[in-house]
Amino acid sequence: MLIIDCHGHHTVTPQAHLDYRKAQKAALTDACLAHPQRPDISDDEIREGIEANQLKLLKERGADLTIFSPRASRMEPHIGSADTARNWSMACNNLIHRVTNLYPDTFVGVCMLPQTPGGDFKHCIEELERCVNELGFIGCNLNPDPSGGYWTSPPLTDKYWYPLYEKMVELDIPAMVHVSGSCNPAFHATGSYYIAADTNAFMQFIQGDLFKDFPDLRFIIPHGGGAVPYHWGRYRGLADMLKQPSLDTHVMKNVYFDTCVYHQPGIDLLFDVIDIDNILFGSEMVGAVRCIDPQTGQYFDDTKRYVDKLGLSRADLRKVYEGNARRVYPRLDAILKQRGF
Ligand SMILES: [Zn+2]
Repeated sequence: MLIIDCHGHHTVTPQAHLDYRKAQKAALTDACLAHPQRPDISDDEIREGIEANQLKLLKERGADLTIFSPRASRMEPHIGSADTARNWSMACNNLIHRVTNLYPDTFVGVCMLPQTPGGDFKHCIEELERCVNELGFIGCNLNPDPSGGYWTSPPLTDKYWYPLYEKMVELDIPAMVHVSGSCNPAFHATGSYYIAADTNAFMQFIQGDLFKDFPDLRFIIPHGGGAVPYHWGRYRGLADMLKQPSLDTHVMKNVYFDTCVYHQPGIDLLFDVIDIDNILFGSEMVGAVRCIDPQTGQYFDDTKRYVDKLGLSRADLRKVYEGNARRVYPRLDAILKQRGF
């Protein structure tokens, strides 16, 4: 059985990449500054960050493969123009591609999209096609709120998003619903904004009829589905009150949760409430919570420990660690089959 972590970000990137972003931002406010060229980054600079962080922890914790995307909090779709977003997305996605080339057995790419608040999806579709068709990526991250905490976009079930969904279905790739950093001081990014966005996406799916129009569209709602599993009765009841079909047919044929829940009782609850076929192993390592839990002496985000303690059958463990991910990401399945898995 392979252990596939569906949720990893490139959080430790080479300095030249960060300097490029700095120069890109500076050029937005100072007309005398030219837009920077994308930097030359050596393989060694990329290896340095990966080997001291994600690769080291992955090996220590016993996972085999990470579905890897650009750092979420730095996607910052609210900054600059459509061109700014496109250049930044390409730089970040190219770096992910470099990582997947350096460590093809360990990292598989998922792209960020050059979204802008209120913008159309022309560049997003172009970048998605480039990443999937040319770089071998298997999915994308979709930001439901490019404004960074002000919720100016229509709900994910609105026709506004349909051009992107049509392309996702055509390419047969899922999206992880993932906001970026918070510009709103009322939202802490990883403590409240991320979890609120996950919860919000799920409620939007209940209210709308998106999966009638796109029966093959698939979303991963990260961070254990936000507040949804804990409040499952509320959402089942609301679906009923809103005269929507029951959640198992209305939403859960198309929506999956990861296991980025950083304590044992939370994981226990997730698996008690949510069907095993809808849960993908994930850790979001190295990410939001990087410290050791003094109660257990282990890293909070070492989520494999919690899953292993559930006492699942081997067949169920195989679903959570491998099978569900291969079903949700068919392009990953194809890659693994090619490699004899
Ligand atoms: Zn994340």
